[in-house]
Amino acid sequence: MTTAFTYNGGAVEPGETTNVRFTVSETYLGDPVRIPVTIVNGEHEGPTLCLAAATHGDELNGIEIVREVAHEWDHSDLRGTLVCLPVLNVPGFIAQQRYLPIYDRDLNRSFPGQSAGTSSKRIADRVFRNFIEPCDLCLDFHTSTRGRSNMLHARADMADSAVARVANAFASNVIIDSEGPDGSLRREASKAGTPSITVELGEAHRFQRPLIDAALEGVLSVMAEFGMLETETVKWPGWRTVIEGSDEKTWLRADAGGLVDMHHERGSLVEAGETVCTISDPFKAEVTKIEAPFTGLLIGIPQNPLVYPGNPLCHLVALEEPTLRAVRQIRG
Ligand SMILES: [Zn+2]
Repeated sequence: MTTAFTYNGGAVEPGETTNVRFTVSETYLGDPVRIPVTIVNGEHEGPTLCLAAATHGDELNGIEIVREVAHEWDHSDLRGTLVCLPVLNVPGFIAQQRYLPIYDRDLNRSFPGQSAGTSSKRIADRVFRNFIEPCDLCLDFHTSTRGRSNMLHARADMADSAVARVANAFASNVIIDSEGPDGSLRREASKAGTPSITVELGEAHRFQRPLIDAALEGVLSVMAEFGMLETETVKWPGWRTVIEGSDEKTWLRADAGGLVDMHHERGSLVEAGETVCTISDPFKAEVTKIEAPFTGLLIGIPQNPLVYPGNPLCHLVALEEPTLRAVRQIRG
């Protein structure tokens, strides 16, 4: 037997799709601040999957992922329900900034929220109670902060078997194993019984098509794992590394101020001792080489070439020998 999806103010029956503008706060003028929500309730019984994006207002790649799933995919065979939240942080999105403009609060540290708390906690509470906690699993899409770019990867608490099932099904090459910060959507939702992962891809302020397409494959794979689409199968990304707290990883930092010239792309494998990037002065006279301290994968790189001494440049993680062999074989 299939059931309606209900939220404060409405219900979506099996076989129905509803677009809602859901009030989460009010502006200085007393006008409603509303977030767009699309609920697709399949004709057949199944789990409820939440897809969330732009919890940080300038992280756009996820918006396109969620919109595409909601409005371009054929849902006639859907088993279960999709709760699509393409722009969670509407005030940040309008201002094109990461945080809620009200006192610069981080919405992604405000979950599960509080109905009588600060403005960010009230917004978080409205979203969490109505659309996140009622779901069986959740994918929250992010990008790197402004000026940097991330390889597509998942962040998940792999010690929690329900969360690990979602992360493994997402089929990314890289999973960073961590519980996540207090107040983050994925940590608080997982704690409340909605196993959740963060998906990181690319940079802020952009739609990056190849990354969006790869993430959409991941969404299909998760839906296959949880029986939401019988025609789809769970994907294997070819190779995978799960990066734990104790694993070898480092931020390569600038020791000189100047202009950065990257020698490798996001996601490249670099050999120990290889030059990853150089920093030069305005006269191209002083050139500082930044070398890889060990062989590894560049999961994060700068987009903005300007650095002060001490600024992080590249996020490098070591790979186990069998993974290294698989990556080299696949990439030729
Ligand atoms: Zn983010």
